[in-house]
Amino acid sequence: MQDAPRLYLDLPLSPEGEGVVLNADQMRYLATVLRLQNGDILHVFNEEAGEWEAQLEIHRKDRGQAVLRTRVRPPEETSGPVLVFAPLKRDATDLVLRMGTEMGVTRFCPVITERTNTHRINADRFRAIAIEAAEQCERLDIPHIDPLRSLTQLLDEWDDQIPLFAALERQECPDVARVVGNHALLVGPEGGFSESERRLLSAQKAIIPISLGKRILRADTAVVAGLARLAFYVSQSI
Ligand code: SAM
Repeated sequence: MQDAPRLYLDLPLSPEGEGVVLNADQMRYLATVLRLQNGDILHVFNEEAGEWEAQLEIHRKDRGQAVLRTRVRPPEETSGPVLVFAPLKRDATDLVLRMGTEMGVTRFCPVITERTNTHRINADRFRAIAIEAAEQCERLDIPHIDPLRSLTQLLDEWDDQIPLFAALERQECPDVARVVGNHALLVGPEGGFSESERRLLSAQKAIIPISLGKRILRADTAVVAGLARLAFYVSQSI
């Protein structure tokens, strides 16, 4: 049997018996796309309330509510890396958001570098992708999405206590031995970092260069490879 669908609701979720009103998009998704019927079970969640089992009440095609039955997961603290990345073409950026959320990124920091492919982001779209990914991967929280800023500004504002692992291709890098506590991954744009950016990075206290192997990966692939590598080092450090 398929698991109950999960829906992120940015609303207070309690107490038992309470009906939480669903908006037209949510109703269309549940009733039309997933073909849920009146009385079917779904799960609703958010970072403050945890996850609740609820029963769908359909009033009209685009109107209804989720009646809370029982809390099945308490809220939990999410720990995971920060991802600093240069926005890519639309599909590739969508992948970064989706895969990063699935892999536990707690905060996305989009940055403009000299060779960044795009200089605008759509924060609502980013959040919608992150919500969809959180719904499917059983996360309770939605990662934070920072406004777009320049790489230089990010580095100026960076807390030196937080190691920032910079994925640098074609460079000999010492192997990472341990990753403990807060940490972040930095991946460059499709065109890579410029020479002056590389010099700027190497002058930063928080920067730890990492290699992702001999092959030159597409930036979205590099995000996943880098996150997986750091997750491995975190698990080795426990
Ligand atoms: N245009 C660059 C070149 O040909 O040298 C390649 C840039 S790569 C497509 C995009 C980003 O992915 C890089 O800035 C880097 O952050 C990361 N990356 C890709 N392959 C990597 C590797 N083997 N090791 C470390 N980082 C890598």
